[in-house]
Amino acid sequence: MPCANVFGSPFGWPTDQSNEQPVSHVEAVIAARLPLSLAALALLALWESVHPYLPLFTGAHATRERLRHGAQNVALGVMNGLVVRFVFLGAWTAVASWSEARGFGMSAWVGGPPWLQWVLVLLLLDGWTYSWHRLNHTVPILWRFHRLHHSDRQMDVTTANRFHLGEIVLSSLLRIPLLALFGASVLQLAVYEIILFAVVQFHHANIAVPESVDRVLRAFIVTPHLHKVHHSIDQAEQHANFSSVLTWWDRAARTLRLSPDLSQVVFGVDEHPTSR
Ligand SMILES: [Zn+2]
Ligand SMILES: [Zn+2]
Repeated sequence: MPCANVFGSPFGWPTDQSNEQPVSHVEAVIAARLPLSLAALALLALWESVHPYLPLFTGAHATRERLRHGAQNVALGVMNGLVVRFVFLGAWTAVASWSEARGFGMSAWVGGPPWLQWVLVLLLLDGWTYSWHRLNHTVPILWRFHRLHHSDRQMDVTTANRFHLGEIVLSSLLRIPLLALFGASVLQLAVYEIILFAVVQFHHANIAVPESVDRVLRAFIVTPHLHKVHHSIDQAEQHANFSSVLTWWDRAARTLRLSPDLSQVVFGVDEHPTSR
């Protein structure tokens, strides 16, 4: 969350929505959310096993350590996902259904063809995700929660699930008025969540993406290179690359940063920062 869970969670989504909303394709997208997320997690974990970028787990107990590390992160994600599912998801779908039915929110006010409203809502959601992530690094009380995500010394795909419950609760609460303001529909929110979680898992993964491919991808989306820089223990590097899906926010805000050599990167949190 910021990194993914601002980021909500892949676990569950109410299907018993109001009479105003449910149509088959909405429910199909919602139902696809969990299996798609788990499939992405499994595929990326396999990729990390076959061709890891950094030797994160070494020594006699490497496999056991990797499993323990992954289980802890995923367990945290499951716990956060259950809180979102049973505490916030009903409110999100209710407010999205309400704004959609009444033509309330920025997408309705701007008007235009449906594709334009889709583009607008997805951009608004992703722009907010950038802003929220950046706030988590600059507001001390928010950093207290977000630092748990950065405290992982062995960043891999499972780190995408590692968020403090406090960060999840705050971001989920803020989403309620924002969904109304943006005029996001239930379907638009579900599609954004699927895209978000897929990209967030991808850029946390400890995988070797050729520089030529990474360069093309990062013209659009956040790549493993960019997010490794963000998880660096170095303060200057950590205060860059806040985007979660599109890199355009970092480019616009001049917070995009590349590293000349990531092979020696140290992940984690500086316990004695000179400033924050
Ligand atoms: Zn961060
Ligand atoms: Zn991250």
